[in-house]
Amino acid sequence: MSIPALMPVYPRCDVRPVKGDHCHLIDEDGTRYLDFASGIAVNLLGHSHEGLIGAIQRQAETLMHVSNLYGSPQQEKLAQMLVDATFADTVFFTNSGAEAVETAIKTARAFHQHEDGDPARTELITFTNAFHGRTMATISASDQAKMHKGFLPLLEGFKYCPFDDLEAARAAIGPQTAGFLVEPIQGEGGIRPASQKFMQGLRDLADEHGLMLVLDEVQCGVARTGRFYAHELYGIKPDIVASAKGIGGGFPLGACLATEHAARGMTFGTHGSTYGGNPLAMAAGVAVMEAVANEEFLASVRDKGARLKARLEQFIGNYPDLFELVRGEGLMLGIRMKVESRPFFQHLRDNHQLLTVAAGDNTLRVLPPLVIGDAEMDEFFDKLSAGAADYKIPEPA
Ligand SMILES: *Cc1c(COP(=O)(O)O)cnc(C)c1O
Repeated sequence: MSIPALMPVYPRCDVRPVKGDHCHLIDEDGTRYLDFASGIAVNLLGHSHEGLIGAIQRQAETLMHVSNLYGSPQQEKLAQMLVDATFADTVFFTNSGAEAVETAIKTARAFHQHEDGDPARTELITFTNAFHGRTMATISASDQAKMHKGFLPLLEGFKYCPFDDLEAARAAIGPQTAGFLVEPIQGEGGIRPASQKFMQGLRDLADEHGLMLVLDEVQCGVARTGRFYAHELYGIKPDIVASAKGIGGGFPLGACLATEHAARGMTFGTHGSTYGGNPLAMAAGVAVMEAVANEEFLASVRDKGARLKARLEQFIGNYPDLFELVRGEGLMLGIRMKVESRPFFQHLRDNHQLLTVAAGDNTLRVLPPLVIGDAEMDEFFDKLSAGAADYKIPEPA
């Protein structure tokens, strides 16, 4: 047997974390890493947040799982908190981001397949370089061939347009169009914020043609940008939003949020999940909402994000051969590099114990826990400076 017991689909690195301590990770051999990756924008309260741990512990002792056969005071509570904090009127809970996007896709299709709708409208317009997850529908929604390879055929019902190109989106609309599915700030694609003109334009096109504006806020949502959802930065209201990652603070949890109008097709028996919304996940979600869904916390993220971005912009000026620009909002920042970003990301990790995340478009993602303080920010710049100073750009292979 040469295949490892753990299916080898991830090219894992040598860091093997066994303990978390606020904004640091400690690996098997005791090495401490500064975690500016946050489990890919997940651990927004860091790794040992007492409120989150206590909520999970108490719920685990009380009731862990019952299925969706029964009434759920736990889900009603978190759904109401999300409704109170956002554009949404109603929420479906999932276990992951891809499932939240799947639910969003189904909600958009069901809207048009409703008795008052137009069943010909089955196709979502999606955008180049998008990442929506790894299920069949969510890889089909992305134009990225590297995620399709080996898994054909794709599902029908997605049409790709260039990201941030409003005229292309307008031209793609036809009698088959159900709506748009877009990340307001592309994450995996390289921390690329959509322009104001594009987001407002999609909202206007959706209104004009009776289409659904579906946002994938799995990475950019839940306080990451200093707004509860990133679409608030654009001053627009979506019809449907897929949310996950930060929403459980590290516990697997996703949600599909919708307006009453958009959710008209999601009636009894149309959708479901065995684990989705289980009491343990709800306890984690409520603890996260209590910590982040308030103006004081959101303002602190905006303030830290602005300071981090300003310091990064100043810093990259010292290394004009390595870095090109800094982009993003709040604590969802990316450094676009002039050289390949992946080897530099590995260098920071292996030689300076600084964890970031590589992304598309030669970008290094900087996604710290939202609870970082000045000490962590200073440590980040110490490590980044040392890493840039002793970096040797690898020879092209
Ligand atoms: C991570 C991510 C997903 C998929 O979430 P999973 O929990 O891995 O299924 C979907 N969309 C975006 C924008 C993401 O960043």
